[in-house]
Amino acid sequence: MTQNLCSRCGKPRIVAKAWKEKVICEGKVTYVEYTQMVCPDKECQLALEKQLQAQLVNRQRIEKNKLERDLAHKQKMVDLRLGKKK
Ligand SMILES: [Zn+2]
Repeated sequence: MTQNLCSRCGKPRIVAKAWKEKVICEGKVTYVEYTQMVCPDKECQLALEKQLQAQLVNRQRIEKNKLERDLAHKQKMVDLRLGKKK
């Protein structure tokens, strides 16, 4: 296994949680192992989680904007076809 280093402080990460999840694939039951790696530095880990959360929110906002733009574009095309003037 390659060493998992913290992207903020560069310390080797530690396993915070390890668990198995049952996955049913094509009628067969398999278990997938998951490990959650965290920075040993609590404050660093918290900051990292905040950063990840911010990134997630940002991504969701971009997705939403895109969706709204697409909708607006579609609506515009319909309006054009109907000969509506704005
Ligand atoms: Zn760290």
